[in-house]
Amino acid sequence: MQELIEKGQKYLMNTYGRLPIVLEKGKGNVVQDVQGKEYLDFLGGIAVNALGHCPEQMVAEIARQSKKIIHCSNYYWTKEQIDLAELLVENSCGDKAFFANSGAEANEGAIKLARIWAHKNFNAGKNKILTLNGSFHGRTLATLTATGQESFHQYFSPLLQGIDYVDADLAEISKKIDETVCGILVEPVQGEGGVNVLPVDFMQGLEKLCNENKILLICDEVQSGIGRTGKFFAYEHSGIRPDIITCAKALGGGLPIGAFLAKDSVASAFAPGDHGSTFGGNPFVCGVAQTIVKIICQKDFLQNVQESGEYFRKKIGELDNDKVKEIRGLGLMIGVELTEPIAKEVMKKAVTQGLLFCTCGSQTLRFLPALNVTKQEVDKAVEILGKIL
Ligand code: PLP
Repeated sequence: MQELIEKGQKYLMNTYGRLPIVLEKGKGNVVQDVQGKEYLDFLGGIAVNALGHCPEQMVAEIARQSKKIIHCSNYYWTKEQIDLAELLVENSCGDKAFFANSGAEANEGAIKLARIWAHKNFNAGKNKILTLNGSFHGRTLATLTATGQESFHQYFSPLLQGIDYVDADLAEISKKIDETVCGILVEPVQGEGGVNVLPVDFMQGLEKLCNENKILLICDEVQSGIGRTGKFFAYEHSGIRPDIITCAKALGGGLPIGAFLAKDSVASAFAPGDHGSTFGGNPFVCGVAQTIVKIICQKDFLQNVQESGEYFRKKIGELDNDKVKEIRGLGLMIGVELTEPIAKEVMKKAVTQGLLFCTCGSQTLRFLPALNVTKQEVDKAVEILGKIL
């Protein structure tokens, strides 16, 4: 294993603080390293492996679709892309979809759509996007700028113009709103920022502010979407209807795909040539993503996600450990804030004990297991966590 890691250090750019294991196989919520050691995977590729590793339906669809058609240009229509768009639209308040390849790309597209909508319906000066302090929206230059955490900005200036930051406080947001603002981009549950659930009254107040000021409400559901919180999209918990919704991660169950959905009145600002992607919406990934989405939309699936999340949170609570300060989250997007900045240390220890999860900041542990995780798996994960804490 050490030899492989050294080879990786020789040939790969040093952008990830990787843990010292090399993974080789996975089934359900269990992954195996090259030495055959097993780990319970409660990180799930950071909310990507919606149905666990190599679920049978997905593997079968990959085989079937790869024999049919893998890629063709967006110069042409494909049934797979059209059907996936229909599925997403039928399960959201959006009317039209655009497919990209990642979360950051979906957010880039959403920012472009907000700007072109404002430009065509109002004027070119209405182009500012507000985002929240503590947010995370991606690593491309526009989404990096949109990310409301300075630590991500260092070394990459000049950043994109026309982005401003504000606290998750309606009065503060109201003060920032003027005729130059065209959109507000928020994660209904902030992931990287610490698994912070934005309160229902905040989300409802934000929708009202946006409507009153002719500003688009854009929900970044890259991490919280596609069933993660026990609703298909997390914005549904507050009963609002955002103008643009972005998603990615779980949508492909592990294949790269991102998407943004928008109301007709907004999406209609785009005309041919205004946006595009070579790989985005290719029939292979869209065919597989349909399989994932159809399973998540089956009767009782989302109810189970809610129940598993409640069970998980209850079990962590029962540890009654004085190092646990707060348990946050919705569905199976769970953050455990500790009383001390030892999150990385706990995560590293957990790896040696056969449990994978990640951290947000120095004090919060983040758990994003597959949406079909079992109670036995939750019990086992909590037992390991309890021993470490
Ligand atoms: N938006 C949110 C809320 C995310 O959590 C992430 C990734 O963690 C992104 C955007 C960026 O997604 P990607 O890494 O697929 O570009």
